[in-house]
Amino acid sequence: METYDLFIDGQTCKPAGGEYFESFDPYTGRPWARVAKGGALDVERAVQAAHQAFKSNAWRGLTASARGSLLRKLADLIALNAERLGAIETHDNGKLLAEMQAQVRYIPQWFHYYGGLADKIEGSVIPVDKAKMFTFTEYEPLGVIAAITPWNSPLLLAAWKLAPALAAGNTVVWKPSEHASVSSLEFVKLMAEAGFPPGVVNVVTGFGQDVGEPLVTHPLVAKVAFTGGEAGGIRVAELAARGLKPVTLELGGKSPNIVFADANIDNAVKGVISGIFAATGQTCVAGSRLLVQRQVYDEVVGKVVDMARTARIGNPGELTTQVGPVTTRAQFEKVLRYIDGAKREGASCLLGGGPATHAECGDGWFVQPTVFGDVTPQMQLAQEEVFGPVLAAMVFEDEDDAVRIANSLPYGLAAGVWTENMARALTMSKRLEAGTVWINTYRAVSYMAPFGGYKRSGIGRESGMEMIKEYLQTKCVWIDMGNEVPNPFVLR
Ligand code: NAD
Repeated sequence: METYDLFIDGQTCKPAGGEYFESFDPYTGRPWARVAKGGALDVERAVQAAHQAFKSNAWRGLTASARGSLLRKLADLIALNAERLGAIETHDNGKLLAEMQAQVRYIPQWFHYYGGLADKIEGSVIPVDKAKMFTFTEYEPLGVIAAITPWNSPLLLAAWKLAPALAAGNTVVWKPSEHASVSSLEFVKLMAEAGFPPGVVNVVTGFGQDVGEPLVTHPLVAKVAFTGGEAGGIRVAELAARGLKPVTLELGGKSPNIVFADANIDNAVKGVISGIFAATGQTCVAGSRLLVQRQVYDEVVGKVVDMARTARIGNPGELTTQVGPVTTRAQFEKVLRYIDGAKREGASCLLGGGPATHAECGDGWFVQPTVFGDVTPQMQLAQEEVFGPVLAAMVFEDEDDAVRIANSLPYGLAAGVWTENMARALTMSKRLEAGTVWINTYRAVSYMAPFGGYKRSGIGRESGMEMIKEYLQTKCVWIDMGNEVPNPFVLR
C-alpha cells in the first residue's frame, strides 16, 4: 500500500505529528493508501509557504500573461494524466471510472479558460466629478486562499477554485477530503512539473477539525473557498466571520426534477435517472425529488423504475458499470437509515430499498437503486439530502403547485424542468429558486457557466468569466494633477 505525504513549498514532506490514516476503497471496503494526517503545525508551514510565495518575485513578479501560460501548461499535463488521475479517484471514492475519467479529461478546460482570462482583467479610468483629478481602478489578488474540497468530485471541484484563484495571482493551501486525498497529491506534482514556483499551491491532508479549522482561522489566509456539506459550511463561515474573511460556499441541496405532462416522456425518464442514479446519487445537484404532473405520474414513475431496475451495479472500475458503491461506510449506513425512515413514514418502496449484495458488489458498500412513490412534501425523505441512490417521487397538479413544492425547501442548488412548451420552460426558470435551472437536460456544467446555490445551498458562484472577481479586490487610485491644496478640514 502506497504512503502519501503532504506537499508544502514545492516538496513532499512528512506530517509534523508523524501520523497517517488509511484511505478506503469503497468497492473492496479495504484500505488502499496511507495518507498523512496533517495538523495545525503543518497548516502553519503551508500557509507560511503560500504567504512567502505570494510575496515572492517568482510569483508576483510574473506578468499576467506568464501566469496564464503556466495555467495552460498545467492544463496540458492534466490532459496527459487524465486516465491515471481518474483511476486514482475511483479507488478513493468508488465513483465510476467512466465518470471520474470524463471529469478529469474536462478539467483542463478550467485551466485553459482562466489561463486565457489572466491577462484580460482590466481596471478602468473613472471620469470623477472633481476637476484635475485622475482616478482609476485596478484589481489585485487577495493573498493566500484556503481551498477546502469534498470527496465526491475531488479534482473537478478543486479546479473550480484553483484555476481562477491562480489566474488572479493568489496562492493556495488546499485541504482535500480525508476520504479522497490521493488525487490531490498526484495533481500538485503536475504543478511542479508545469513550472509553478514552490509554495504557490500546497496540500495539507487530514481531517476537518485538525486541518480545516486551523486553516480557516489562520490570520494569513485571506479567503476561504469551501465545497461540502451544510454543517461544515456553517462552521467554516462562522470561523471565517471571526477573521472577517470572505467565503465562497458550495453546499448541498434537495433539487427538484419536474416532469410536466407535455414533456418528451422518454427523455425525461433518462434525465430523472441521470439526476439520481448517476454517481450513485452522490452529487450535490442530485435530482432527488421527482415531481411529476398527475396525468403522467404512473407512466413516468413506472418507466423510471423499469430503467433503474436494469442498471448494472458493481465494480466502478469496469467501464460498463452504471451504479457503483457509496463512498464511505458511514454514508452507506446513513442512506439505509433514510430508506428505513421513508418506509416508516409510509412512502411506497417501488424499487430497491436496501443494501445490494449480489456477487458483483464484492465487499463494497452498495445500496440498491431505490425509488419511493407516494412521497408527500412533509416527509423527511422529501426534505433532507440523502446523498445516495434514493429517489422520492411526488405528484403535482399544475405549474403553481410544482413551484410551491419545489421552492418549499430552504435549499436552491439546481432544478430540472421537462416540458415541450418553451413559454412554460421560461416561466418555470424564472419562478424556481435555484442557482441552476436545466430545461430538458440535467447535470450539465461548464467552465463558462456560473454555478452555485440560492438560499442555504451556498454563497457565491464558481466558473464563468465574472467569477474571477471572487478572487480579486478592487483598488481605487486618485491622482491630483492640480497644484492647489483645498481646505484641509473639508472632505474633497
Ligand atoms: P463535508 O462537509 O463532510 O466535507 C467537505 C470538506 O470540508 C472536507 O475536506 C472536510 O474535511 C472539510 N471539513 C469538514 N468539517 C470542517 C470544519 N469544521 N472546518 C473545516 N473544514 C471542514 O462534505 P463531504 O461529505 O465531503 O461532501 C458531501 C457534501 O458536499 C454534500 O452535502 C454535497 O451536497 C456537498 N457538495 C456540494 C457541491 C457544490 O458544488 N455545491 C459539490 C459537491 C458536494
